[in-house]
Amino acid sequence: MRHNTVNQVSRVFLILLVVTLAAMALIIAQAMGFGLPDASGLKPQGLVGAAWDRQVALISGHAGNDSGAVCEDADGAVLVTEAAINANIADLVAARLRHAGADVVILDEYDARLQGLRAAVLVSLHADSCIDASGYKAAIHAYSLIPATSGRLLACIDQAYPAATGLPHHPNTVTHNMTEYHAFKRIDPQTPAAIVELGFLGGDRALLVDQPELAAKGVADGILCFLEGEKERAP
Ligand SMILES: [Zn+2]
Repeated sequence: MRHNTVNQVSRVFLILLVVTLAAMALIIAQAMGFGLPDASGLKPQGLVGAAWDRQVALISGHAGNDSGAVCEDADGAVLVTEAAINANIADLVAARLRHAGADVVILDEYDARLQGLRAAVLVSLHADSCIDASGYKAAIHAYSLIPATSGRLLACIDQAYPAATGLPHHPNTVTHNMTEYHAFKRIDPQTPAAIVELGFLGGDRALLVDQPELAAKGVADGILCFLEGEKERAP
């Protein structure tokens, strides 16, 4: 009888020890920025803490609607369409962000899911016309209800995209189509959002067609920079 009691007591202590160690491991993981594990399991090493499990929405510009800009050769044969460029780069951006642990969805231009969309960030990917010009540009909603947050997103894109691609900023062609972009008015006003013109299909075609990974890295790095900044600001 006494022997059984001793066994039971040591078993209780063993369970307490295991629970305490598990709790300590969770606290340490949280302190390192990994967050609590959920049903999808513990975060593998090498992922970006700030991106883990965050909802990121990308719009593949013109998808499901039209081709966007179309470049043709002298004989009228189609060389490249903007929609194809946007879709390819959206896929590459999504792959990078998923690798960092984010929950990414790629939306069509007029996707029904844009209505009231709530996400950590929305970025719409477009490319500029076939003229022989070079440069990218990004814009946020002219009437954003969260101008400081949107401004931080824009600053991150303006830092990361030229760093990855080497493309200059081309600000003089930011239009009302960008600052009053239709999706900005449909999403939840608390969702930070930006639209990026990744480069010109004319002057920047070599980058957009042959080195889309560079453009994807620029966009993904900009989004990760924003998520990391927001995480640091969180109480
Ligand atoms: Zn476009």
